[in-house]
Amino acid sequence: MATRIVVLGAGFGGLELSTILSDELGEDADVTLIDRGDAFVFGYSKLDVMFGRKTPEAVRLPYRDFAKPGVRFVRETITAIDPEGRRVGTDGGEHEADILVVALGADYDIDATPGLAEGGNEFYSVAGAERLRDVIPGFTAGRAVVGVCGAPFKCPPAPSEAALLLHDHLSERGVRDACEITLLMPLPSPVPPSPQTSEALLEAFAERSIEFVPGARITSLDPGRRVVVLKDGSEVPYDLFLGVPKHRAPDVVLESGMAEEGYIPVESRTLKTRFPGVYAVGDVATVGVPKAGVFSEGAARVVAAEVLAELAGGEQPAGYDGLGSCYIEFGAGRVGRVNVDFLSGPKPTGTFQAPSSALAAEKEDFGSSRSARWFGR
Ligand SMILES: Cc1cc2nc3c(=O)[nH]c(=O)nc-3n(C[C@H](O)[C@H](O)[C@H](O)COP(=O)(O)OP(=O)(O)OC[C@H]3O[C@@H](n4cnc5c(N)ncnc54)[C@H](O)[C@@H]3O)c2cc1C
Repeated sequence: MATRIVVLGAGFGGLELSTILSDELGEDADVTLIDRGDAFVFGYSKLDVMFGRKTPEAVRLPYRDFAKPGVRFVRETITAIDPEGRRVGTDGGEHEADILVVALGADYDIDATPGLAEGGNEFYSVAGAERLRDVIPGFTAGRAVVGVCGAPFKCPPAPSEAALLLHDHLSERGVRDACEITLLMPLPSPVPPSPQTSEALLEAFAERSIEFVPGARITSLDPGRRVVVLKDGSEVPYDLFLGVPKHRAPDVVLESGMAEEGYIPVESRTLKTRFPGVYAVGDVATVGVPKAGVFSEGAARVVAAEVLAELAGGEQPAGYDGLGSCYIEFGAGRVGRVNVDFLSGPKPTGTFQAPSSALAAEKEDFGSSRSARWFGR
């Protein structure tokens, strides 16, 4: 009987893993890929939706187009995970695995920041970005605050991108002079592993009169008085709040007993959990890399190689290296790039490529190559 591989979550990690296994094993693969959604959306597409650059429909990649030999896509909500028995309960039944890969990403905990639901807006979900698309055009004067409500959070450069794109958006509408933009960040700098990238972002903020507040710990919003309350007791007034909610592993993961301190600990080189035959990749795992799609994808490649080696009885591959590159929107059609190495040295190191239109084209290619590879577009 073929080895039953069950992959939980069809995001960057789950899609890449299932694609490699299908490419290598064809119809001999026995992969079940489970997700509650009906479409994949790139994280950065939320910025496009929020600023009206693309419609929500245009950024959806429906799972019905993910057609891979040996992979069965199942649209179900996962309600229980038994890592010891490698069994998964869903609203549609039960799935048993020989190899189980948890790639369920990170969820948002909106209620962890009192006032955010009533008085703020978040742009980290498609629904939130869609709502903001209708709210932002009505903002013509006053204080806009981009606020990160907790760390770790997905794609550390994304809040900086949101502030820079907001500057462009308000400038294009001729109302920038009537508005202030502040970015509240719990981290000490915009992108701590790469001082060069942080410097470039701080320079871009200064050129555009965007106020950057490092080390800001948001505890709540008071919608009545329109202020953001920080842990040190100080308050920041706002007329428009664009929030990054606190993150946490999905409830089903927390309830499974796999998580420690919020996420699933794994051996960073192999992505193995402490449960035999169970791996965790991407945002749901604690690996020592940021929560970003490129890292989920890199981890998925390592797990694919390990699984293939195990099936073929071959040698185990080299471990996960924690390398990744992220594109950063600087506005005005220019994109920068940060390349980070998290695991090969004693501490993370990063290099920065200055924003250009050539890198904007490269970012387009990044997206279209994934759309082609995963969804045949
Ligand atoms: C605004 C923004 C900009 C970003 N920009 C970038 C960028 O430029 N580059 C980059 O690399 N990353 C970027 N990211 C981050 C990136 O989107 C995530 O880090 C990435 O999607 C994580 O991949 P993953 O496979 O670990 O999880 P996800 O892609 O989140 O996939 C998890 C899947 O699990 C499913 N799931 C969860 N719970 C259940 C359940 N109970 N039952 C069934 N299914 C479930 C979800 O539906 C989801 O499809 C950005 C994110 C945001 C919000």
